Amino acid sequence: MIIVGGGATGVGIAIDAANRGYEVLLLERSDFGKGTSSRSTKLIHGGVRYLEQGNLSLVMEALKERGLLLKNAPHLVHDLGFVVPNYDWWEAPFYGMGLKIYNLLAGKYGFGASRLLSREETLERLPTINTDGLRGGVVYYDGQFDDSRLLIHMVMTAFELGATLLNYFEVTDLLRGSDDLVDGVVARDVETGEEMPLEAKIVINATGAFSDALRRMADASASPIISPSQGIHLVFDRSFLPGDSAIMVPHTSDGRVLFAIPWHGHTMIGTTDTPLDEIPVEPVAREDEIEFILSTAREYLAKKPTRDDVLSVFAGVRPLVRAGDGANTAALSRDHTIQIERSGLLTICGGKWTTYRHMAEDCVNQAATLARLPDKPCATANLNIHGFHSSAGKFGSLSVYGSDAPAIEELMRTQPELAQPLHPALPYMRAEVVWQTRFEMARTVEDILARRTRALFLNARAALAMAPEVARLMAAELGQGRDWERRQIDQLRTLAQRYLLP
Ligand SMILES: Cc1cc2nc3c(=O)[nH]c(=O)nc-3n(C[C@H](O)[C@H](O)[C@H](O)COP(=O)(O)OP(=O)(O)OC[C@H]3O[C@@H](n4cnc5c(N)ncnc54)[C@H](O)[C@@H]3O)c2cc1C
Repeated sequence: MIIVGGGATGVGIAIDAANRGYEVLLLERSDFGKGTSSRSTKLIHGGVRYLEQGNLSLVMEALKERGLLLKNAPHLVHDLGFVVPNYDWWEAPFYGMGLKIYNLLAGKYGFGASRLLSREETLERLPTINTDGLRGGVVYYDGQFDDSRLLIHMVMTAFELGATLLNYFEVTDLLRGSDDLVDGVVARDVETGEEMPLEAKIVINATGAFSDALRRMADASASPIISPSQGIHLVFDRSFLPGDSAIMVPHTSDGRVLFAIPWHGHTMIGTTDTPLDEIPVEPVAREDEIEFILSTAREYLAKKPTRDDVLSVFAGVRPLVRAGDGANTAALSRDHTIQIERSGLLTICGGKWTTYRHMAEDCVNQAATLARLPDKPCATANLNIHGFHSSAGKFGSLSVYGSDAPAIEELMRTQPELAQPLHPALPYMRAEVVWQTRFEMARTVEDILARRTRALFLNARAALAMAPEVARLMAAELGQGRDWERRQIDQLRTLAQRYLLP
């Protein structure tokens, strides 16, 4: 199988297919996670909002996947308390009942039980909540994770199962056999410019928001199936949400859900749902989105965030499956879709990060049938993700590496100069850059600052300041010279502007 696209969907498929013993090649034109999969709200959740929309089967499926992921990647997924603050008399019974049902749907995969909170208990959990008219709250539990870190560990899992996964390899065309069916791709090595034909029994299009571009390589007249919708997040320091609980606002003025979440020692607030006409590789937050998040956050927080407080802003594009004219993307289903073209190209899109494993199961089942491969059952429900460690918390700031953390500690012991932090505002050490370049396929300074660490997403100015040292460490590992370092720093400087508010 050739899988095109190295986000959660593609890499999830690579794991499942390789685990069944199929031969797998995955091609990603940029870095793993450069698309939507590094830009999520970082929740492994059933989706309280989908409950409201009445999509109980999606909620149940996602809650089951949440439970499986907590079991299979405990070093990266953990439970988090979410408080819905109540200001009106009807909110406690209404949300209290809704969240009981949410819990019920999780069945044996349940996290902690939801319950009503008094005003005092709400304030204990959310010391910075706006107290004006506050009556109390409802607490429920969901999962939280680091999206691109999980993705990198999924890449390593697939690799250990025998799959080949390449970043910086772009699919530029599809190959056709004598029967006119797609039987391979033309791939371009982005670093050297070399192009090569690669054959396969089946080609899987897992390019997310870019799915239609690949479908049009198979059939120029293919009508679009993606309705792209942008969501943004603003990141602040921890003082805006100093406790361990998140805030969930179930109804913003535009009828959406807003989250304020503690993440890697910072406060992340989002998101929006803005239909797009075009799909940029590096999406940028719009002014109206930024203002909407700031003004909604000010309604709920006692410490009112301003533009000057924003440490980073990041945007992502949801690969939603089209329905109607696409004007209201918030109402579109988050279910996934598998489409098989007359050319034999299989496209999988939609869905959520949370449900990637289930999506992969569905996709590999269909791909195996289509490609006439021997039937083999899916066995990922009990498959540990690379780095699996049941008490990774003891590794402190290296806990996200799970079972790899001791090797990074060893690097710091043997080369004490690598035990130096890269920036006082962030917990990243020089040894991590060396590790990520040697073992995690990082090829550029952006790969390190955006997706191996989360520096660019947490604090864009700090990421910018770290760039020269990251470039120096990488150049030594990759055998590159000063020119390469300078180019990398320049590229990062340009990119970082998009994560800073003007
Ligand atoms: C703002 C926002 C918040 C979200 N929050 C959550 C959340 O909290 N929880 C949750 O479960 N889900 C969430 N989601 C949804 C989730 O992030 C996405 O469903 C998921 O990441 C999609 O993954 P993907 O692999 O399909 O797409 P992508 O991650 O975009 O991957 C597609 C990849 O294909 C590559 N590609 C494209 N064309 C080519 C080509 N020609 N050759 C080679 N490679 C190519 C791209 O570079 C890209 O890396 C959120 C989404 C958004 C936008």
